[in-house]
Amino acid sequence: MSCSICLSKFKNPVSIPCGHVYCTDCLTNHVAATSNDDVGFMSNCPTCREPFNCVSPQLNCIPRRLHQYILPSVRRVYVEPSSSSASLRKELAAAEKLIRALERDNERLVNERDNLVVAKEDALYRESLLEEENQELRQSAEMDAIEAADALKALKSKYNKLKQHCRTLKEENGQKDLSAVLLNVSKRNSSAVDASLTDAEASTPKRLRMIRPLPHRSRLSLQTPTKNGEQLGSPFRT
Ligand SMILES: [Zn+2]
Ligand SMILES: [Zn+2]
Repeated sequence: MSCSICLSKFKNPVSIPCGHVYCTDCLTNHVAATSNDDVGFMSNCPTCREPFNCVSPQLNCIPRRLHQYILPSVRRVYVEPSSSSASLRKELAAAEKLIRALERDNERLVNERDNLVVAKEDALYRESLLEEENQELRQSAEMDAIEAADALKALKSKYNKLKQHCRTLKEENGQKDLSAVLLNVSKRNSSAVDASLTDAEASTPKRLRMIRPLPHRSRLSLQTPTKNGEQLGSPFRT
């Protein structure tokens, strides 16, 4: 509701007999501009052109008992809570309800956000713990790998030493076996040789004695036993 002259909210509103309402100042200015003294302090409603009397009777000049029969042409209007204000109150109540609902939603969302923030912090903390653990595990795994590599190296060298030792032992065994065999052979044959020695020529015992130093020979000579055998065998065959 606004004044149709100034198009603003009513300021000290007054009504004229046609029922239209204007601000006091707006109506005074309108009357000042349009009143025609010829017609006798009359003016027209700016909205509906209904003529009205500009001058209200001075009540203090009229007996009090007649006051109730006299209606001033321009009357003050008091804005009372109207149906529109009732609807406004309804709108306000609805808006307040909406505000409360929104506040509840807001509270719920804030709680959810806080929970999520806490959960995120928790997750980050757990992730950092896992990262730490992971790093420790990786380091220990690397150390284990290094230790394992060292142990492997040590085992390899031990294995090689043992292999070498084993080979040496085998060679020694082989040498012993060979010398034992040779000893046996020489013992078995020596009787025959001794028997034949009496008949043999003087050079034969010399060559036979050459068998004896064989066990003390170098390993190289052992790798070619057939050659030795041939060499050794030949005196016995003759
Ligand atoms: Zn006005
Ligand atoms: Zn009017």
